[in-house]
Amino acid sequence: MLEKMEEFDPEKVIEEFEAITRDAGKVQRETLKKILEENGSAEYLQSLGLNGRTDPESFKTCVPLVTHKELEPYIHRIADGDPSPILTGKPITTISLSSGTTQGKPKFVPFNDELMESTMQIYRTSFAFRNREFPIGNGKGLQFIYSSKQFQTKGGLAAGTATTNVYRNSQFKETMKAIQSQSCCPDEVIFGPDFHQSLYCHLLCGLIFRDEVQFVFSTFAHSILHAFRTFEQVWEELCTDIREGVLSNRVSAPSIRAAMSKLLKPNPELADLVYKKITGLSNWYRLIPELFPNAKYIYGIMTGSMEPYLRKLRHYAGELPLLSADYGSSEGWIGANVNPKLPPESATFAVLPNIGFFEFIPLKHNIEDQDQNQMDPSFFQIEHEPVDLTEVKIGEDYEIIVTNFAGLYRYKLGDVVKVMGFHNSTPELKFVCRRNLLLTINIDKNTEKDLQLAVEEASKLLGEEKLEVVDYSSHVDSSTDPGHYVIFWEISGEAGEEVLKECCNCLDRSFIDAGYVSSRKVNAIGALELRVVRRGTFQKILDHYLGLGSALSQFKTPRCVGPTNNLVLQILCGNVVESYFSTAF
Ligand code: AMP
Repeated sequence: MLEKMEEFDPEKVIEEFEAITRDAGKVQRETLKKILEENGSAEYLQSLGLNGRTDPESFKTCVPLVTHKELEPYIHRIADGDPSPILTGKPITTISLSSGTTQGKPKFVPFNDELMESTMQIYRTSFAFRNREFPIGNGKGLQFIYSSKQFQTKGGLAAGTATTNVYRNSQFKETMKAIQSQSCCPDEVIFGPDFHQSLYCHLLCGLIFRDEVQFVFSTFAHSILHAFRTFEQVWEELCTDIREGVLSNRVSAPSIRAAMSKLLKPNPELADLVYKKITGLSNWYRLIPELFPNAKYIYGIMTGSMEPYLRKLRHYAGELPLLSADYGSSEGWIGANVNPKLPPESATFAVLPNIGFFEFIPLKHNIEDQDQNQMDPSFFQIEHEPVDLTEVKIGEDYEIIVTNFAGLYRYKLGDVVKVMGFHNSTPELKFVCRRNLLLTINIDKNTEKDLQLAVEEASKLLGEEKLEVVDYSSHVDSSTDPGHYVIFWEISGEAGEEVLKECCNCLDRSFIDAGYVSSRKVNAIGALELRVVRRGTFQKILDHYLGLGSALSQFKTPRCVGPTNNLVLQILCGNVVESYFSTAF
């Protein structure tokens, strides 16, 4: 792997990337060999009869494709403190909480030094390419990063979200320093106990160091937007703090107050300048470059579920380029954005062939019709044998399977990607969607199962009136600001207004995904809306699909209707008889 960060040399990083992608097939075989050698003693691999073989053919014959469900018993034993080599040769000491909520609760996934190292490799690689096109000076980054608390599992392992595990690792700071990407905020703000207080201080630090800020960042674009929406609300208070050199009372955490008091000195000139800049804006257009005159770009994941935020982000950004960040998950990284000049809508990720062994399940569409709902579960129904990294074809869709150094073997990540081209011999992927994800606005991720559980829970209330939900669907309404979930229900009879209001609140509360709950609490996702549709509406939807050539036996109600599925959305919306907004938060 790469050398220590003090010796960071972007050209060398690029050359190393070119070298590993030149013969990606060979690097993949070597990587698999290394993974299997390092972890051959693990109980999981032992039980599959590999007997020390490390070639891809034996690997694929012996090791089954799995999802998180199959690995869960092993991971739970690790989390419960079993020190034997279960999934990896070296014991796992940290657990990441992935947002995956298939069972209605966050998933545990292993985190280890190798995963940390590949995270840093991805950061360095994309930075080297980014900095070649958009060089930044030796300043600071306004980084809206937050670290949730780590907790101990039953067996005493540290557990937290993957980003928390990364931010708390000493390598993170070293790497950020080496790639000129140090946060302008003290650690106490990043690790503060309260998200709102941290955000306020991120904004305040950004203003204090406004001339030094070289770029604006958050993991996901939504958080950047959320930060500047908050700025619109609190800017006058920020100016007062700067003018008087006293931190607002809204920040009560002693650790944050102590750290901020070292930075905050009375500075009426800066307060006046910010005031003048803001009052000179028209509808907040170009807010970011006005505040941070030396910023070169805005950086974060802007693909997939983040795309709806680009319009507003461009409004704040004016001419500042939006650069889309890399592609990975709590389970591990996949690819780096090595074409930073591409707009986020066309961003691709070049797979790093030395961080894992990657396979791809070709996905064929059921109906070759553009109108088909991208989120329809039947859309990617037909499965084929997985192919290797270098065997994928341009223009085709695949589900990714990951084998990595952190104990995942032939693990179905659940993401659908499209191959857009190749960098040397490694594919450049575009993120398409979660294979099973239905509802997502920003950091929230809810699957068909989550929706089902929520509907089951809420429909119990109807049972008291001897009514039932005949069928249901959902939709993310991004036309409101913030966006919100819409649930469509067809009910077997007339339900009273009070009970439907209760059902609506219950639906909202039943999405227990941490990303959803936290977004609802800060109103980054609006109140859930329950829309009751006329009897027979779902029959009309069935008729619509049959008209397109679907077989009745294969028909599945689209559980989520995406914006590309206009006709089904029209059927649903055209048949709404009443609607309710949740008051649960
Ligand atoms: P988590 O489960 O919270 O670790 O989220 C990981 C998931 O976020 C991935 O499996 C993707 O579905 C999504 N994701 C991560 N990076 C990107 C990206 N660059 N573009 C679109 N979606 C992404």
